[in-house]
Amino acid sequence: MVVDQIGEIGDGIHMLGHRVIPVLLVDGDRPALFDAGMAFLGPIYARQVRQVLDDRQPAWCFLTHSHFDHCGAVAYLKAQFPKMKVVCSKKAADVLGRPNAISLISDLNQFAAGMAADLGVESGDAHFEPFSVDVTAGEGDCFEISPDLTVQTMETPGHTWDFLSYYIPQRKLLVASEALGTPDETGYIVTACLVDYDVHYQSMQRLGTLDVETLFLGHNYSCTGYDARRHMAESLVQSRRFRNMVERFLAAENGNIHAVMKRVKAVEWDGKSGFRQPEPAYVLNLEARIKTVLRKMQATRGFNES
Ligand SMILES: [Zn+2]
Repeated sequence: MVVDQIGEIGDGIHMLGHRVIPVLLVDGDRPALFDAGMAFLGPIYARQVRQVLDDRQPAWCFLTHSHFDHCGAVAYLKAQFPKMKVVCSKKAADVLGRPNAISLISDLNQFAAGMAADLGVESGDAHFEPFSVDVTAGEGDCFEISPDLTVQTMETPGHTWDFLSYYIPQRKLLVASEALGTPDETGYIVTACLVDYDVHYQSMQRLGTLDVETLFLGHNYSCTGYDARRHMAESLVQSRRFRNMVERFLAAENGNIHAVMKRVKAVEWDGKSGFRQPEPAYVLNLEARIKTVLRKMQATRGFNES
């Protein structure tokens, strides 16, 4: 099933906040949050966490990566739930320790607060604040939610270098977020290979070998059962299509990146209905995605950018 509504999406598994920028709560002896969305949604995440946990607090907040829309509300949630420990990769912790990264994350969260009306939520006055990481994790680390519920961490770079996916085998739950293709509002799967095409593809292939019943994605919807497996397979198909499209456009436009960006944007972004990523963010990411394909072409065929 494609799940685009906030609420319980599996046994003790709750998608909270807003479907465009959700967080995931897995209940147990030591409840775990996965990702922390955007700053302006902090009060909504906290309110919905309390609706599930009553007086209990999350013990963990596992971050997939250091992008502004996945760690925006950490400080707010830490203030609300002081017992909560923040976990991310060592690389993400390094990024989050850099003043220039913090300044960018803060600015983007400030800008994103203007989306509140479009998302149909109150804007509130929660701002991004820097926060400390409590635990860094790497490939194969395990964390306990309950004696029969274990979070396994997997290094799945390609969207960013600092990316961790999380797998709970007892629930067949995969928190992949943007390690897999990210659906837009129309169901088109965006290949978000921001740092390396092949590395991203290999991460997706690796995630595709897991036994998954519930799949948590970064934006717009999550899936269960057949649709979870379909999304994992489709992410690979769409990634190859994206690469072919970019290679074709690069050849036709003699390697002119800006001309290629215009053509890809016409396919992926222009004229789309529903809520869309803000244009400046889309364009910035698009350039990075196209360049990962260009680098691959240059490495294999000596193709030159104009
Ligand atoms: Zn991201």
